[in-house]
Order: sequence, then C-alpha cells, then structure tokens
Amino acid sequence: MTSTTTIWDTIAAELNGIEIITDPTQLAKLSLDYYHFSPILEAQLKDKRGNLVVRPATEAEVMQVAKTCVKHKVPLTVRGAGTGNYGQCIPLEGGVILDTTKMNQIRWIKPGLACVEPGVRMAAFDKQAREIGWELRMAPSTYRTATIGGFIGGGSVGMGSITYGQLRDRGNLRALRVVTLEDEPRVIQLRGDEVQKVNHAYGTNGIITELEIPLAPAYPWAEIIVAFDEFMTAAQFGQALSDSDGIVKKMVSIHAWPIPSYFAALQSYLPQGKHCALLMVSETDLEPLQELVREYGGEITYNKTAQEASKGTSILEFTWNHTTLHARSVDPNLTYLQTFYFTLDRVEHMYHHFGDELAIHLEFLRFGGKAIPAGLQLFRFTTEERLNEIIRYHEENGTGIANPHTYILEDGGRKTIDPEQLAFKKLVDPYGLMNPGKMRAWSQMTND
Ligand SMILES: Cc1cc2nc3c(=O)[nH]c(=O)nc-3n(C[C@H](O)[C@H](O)[C@H](O)COP(=O)(O)OP(=O)(O)OC[C@H]3O[C@@H](n4cnc5c(N)ncnc54)[C@H](O)[C@@H]3O)c2cc1C
Repeated sequence: MTSTTTIWDTIAAELNGIEIITDPTQLAKLSLDYYHFSPILEAQLKDKRGNLVVRPATEAEVMQVAKTCVKHKVPLTVRGAGTGNYGQCIPLEGGVILDTTKMNQIRWIKPGLACVEPGVRMAAFDKQAREIGWELRMAPSTYRTATIGGFIGGGSVGMGSITYGQLRDRGNLRALRVVTLEDEPRVIQLRGDEVQKVNHAYGTNGIITELEIPLAPAYPWAEIIVAFDEFMTAAQFGQALSDSDGIVKKMVSIHAWPIPSYFAALQSYLPQGKHCALLMVSETDLEPLQELVREYGGEITYNKTAQEASKGTSILEFTWNHTTLHARSVDPNLTYLQTFYFTLDRVEHMYHHFGDELAIHLEFLRFGGKAIPAGLQLFRFTTEERLNEIIRYHEENGTGIANPHTYILEDGGRKTIDPEQLAFKKLVDPYGLMNPGKMRAWSQMTND
C-alpha cells in the first residue's frame, strides 16, 4: 500500500468486477434514507456517510463483499431503496454500503407463493404476479420504489394489512437465504418460524439474498374517497368497513381535517373542513360499500375503477407514511407518531384530549385476528420534551407507540430485546460488523 492508498482503495481493488461507487455526491445520497421525518433523527444522522457503495448482482458477489469486509473488519450496511424512515440503513460508523438493487431477479411465481431476490421492487413484482391472478399480501405506501428485501428488513405493515396483518405474523414470510459475515462467509437457509431471526432486524444479522413470500389473490381494486362531517363518524365507518367480512378490501385509511388539506393533487375531491376515508375495495363489492357509506352518512367524492386507478397516481400514495410526506411538504415542522390505539374509545379520547395539537390519521389493520385502528398522527414539533410527554400520555392511556424518533431496533416498536435475533447475530456476525449501533442488545453485550 502506498502512503496515499486508503483501506477503501484496497477494498475497492479487491472487489474488482463488482460495481463500486465512490463519488461523494452519490455516496451521500446512498448513505441516507427518510430519517428527516423526525427532527430528532435529523440532528443525529444527517452527517453520517458510508465510505463506499457496492452493488453486487449475485449471491456469489455478496459473499465476496462479506469476506472482504470481515478480512478488513470494516462495517457493512445493507440498503434496498433507502426509503426507511428511522435511519435503518444509515451507516452510523461509515464503512461499506451494500446496495441490493441489482439483485432483482424473480426466481419463480406460482399460485400463492413466490421466490425473489431481495432487490426486486414491490410494484414491479406485482405486475408480473398479476399475470397469474396473484399479488403481494401487503406492501408499504412506498410500493413503487421499495424493495422486497428492504420491506422485510425495515418495514412492518401497509396496504393489505387490513386482511393479512403485520409482516411479523406467522406465515407472512416463508423462507430466507442469508449470507453470514464469518471469516469464511456461508449461506444459511431459514424456513418457517426460523425466519423471525432475521425478519425486521434492520440488516444487523445477515445479508438476505433470497426470499420466499406468500401471495394473495389479486382483486380489481377500486379507489374511493368518502367525506364525513364528523371525525368520529369517519372513524366508526372505518371500523365498520374493516369488520365487514363480506366486503373485500385492501385499505381503510381515515384522515381528520386538516390532513385532507395537505393532499394538493386531490383537492377537488376533498370538501373544505371535512374528514375523509381513502379506501381500496374490490370493484365487485361497490354495492355493499355504498350501502355502508349511506348508513354512516358519508358522501363518495371519488370513485375510480381499478383500470382508471392504474393510470394515475394511486391514492395509496396519500396514505400510511405518504400522508406524513404530503403534510411535511406543506409544513416541514410537522412530524408524526405511530400508534396502536387498539380501540375507537382510545382514538376518541386522544382526539378530544389533544385537540388541534394532534391531527389524527388512522390506518386499520388486522391484529391478532381483529381489525384495529392504528395511527400515524401528525403534530408540529416544538421540543423533544413535549414529544416525550405526548408519547408518555399515549402509553399511560393504553395505546402502543412504535416510536419513529429512534434508530435503535429495540426502542422502536418492539420495546424488548429479542434473544433469538441476538443469538443469530452472534452466529452470523461474530465481529459485529453489520449496521453497527442499531441493535441495543448487541451494543450492551459488547460493552459489558
Ligand atoms: C413516504 C414513506 C411511506 C412509507 N410507508 C410505509 C408503510 O406503509 N409501511 C411500512 O412498513 N413502511 C413504510 N415506510 C418505510 C419504508 O418505505 C418501507 O419499510 C420499505 O419497505 C423499505 O424498503 P427499502 O427497500 O427502501 O428498504 P431500506 O430502507 O433500504 O432498508 C430497510 C432496512 O432493511 C435492511 N435491509 C435491506 N435489504 C436487506 C437485505 N437484503 N438483507 C438484510 N437487511 C436488509 C436495511 O439495512 C435497513 O435496515 C415508508 C417510508 C416513507 C418515506
């Protein structure tokens, strides 16, 4: 090594043949995600950068990257599309960023099940699966860009969750191939409950190189907006639709005024001052849906057939965390919470308790076999102290907070250390090189 050669030059040379990016502008872009939704994370993460990005195209190339990182004992952080919103793929200690987007092969699709590489984008996958009448069971509102591997590594719920629950529910992920960061990297195959060792682990314990995922029957999804005079009527309608087993649906998203005012592209369908429901329902079930809307005194203001909906922007891109995105484009001081309310009583309590301070956005999902309201409420950030008070009040009143203002795996939704994930990390990443600083259990163990 000459005096001007860095370890990164050496690593790049050893990975000759694999696409490598060192351009500082690109490196900065590929080091970050949507962490800036949180003012707390913005301050903590904005300057974090990797030292080089590698884009392997095959599992063999992933093994080569793994071996090189272990040899030089440098951190390795995996990245899909980089749309996570808690800094999941931001390298805290620099190092190599392994971008999976070239690993985008669909291995096979059959009725009910598919096998893919991690960098396959969700919408692109569905386009192909729909040719045989199937689609992903659930997907985030970043569906058009997010990768399947990134959803498993850092996501949790989305459209489809009203029927299929959360990613972590048994059955929603069938098998994985994972490359280890041992001195001699190897491939481990996980099936059944074993996949939970790596599911939603922020890429801290193995590089996923292949996934087997279950599929859902693809219906022609109509996209509908319903306006309501009262927020709680909209929320009750959301619960009633979610509980209506005879109406096939994919998304039930409820927004208290002023949230609809943030949706610039939908303004002609969102009457001033009204609360709204954004829905995806099977086109064949519109008649019973209209009856339910009548029962709750709502007004349908937007009704697109599946074919019409497939041409423009989907209303999906106004729901889940896209709601936060639109709100922040109007007022960058707005931030959010993620809450399991579990019952409408709690929604009503918080609606009255916080008044104008918090704008409630609900997404209904299936939790333990029941449809429940979850929330991605919006509020103007003032101080960290006030943020923590709001969180505390929610927790003291029986709701569950999945805190989006932390990059630590256990401090987000989980709240406890997962001994299975820790044990698996000890096995596959003995030097602690994968996405260091994200798994509290590991940091505690190595500091003791
Ligand atoms: C506007 C907006 C809306 C969103 N809506 C939702 C939503 O509805 N539901 C939801 O759950 N999330 C949502 N998210 C978060 C995020 O978009 C999703 O979780 C998405 O699926 C992440 O995919 P990605 O390819 O961008 O992953 P990345 O952000 O690139 O990675 C996510 C995590 O997975 C790890 N990872 C990636 N690939 C691998 C691999 N091959 N092996 C091991 N680990 C890996 C990374 O290290 C990282 O920790 C939203 C985010 C934004 C900005």
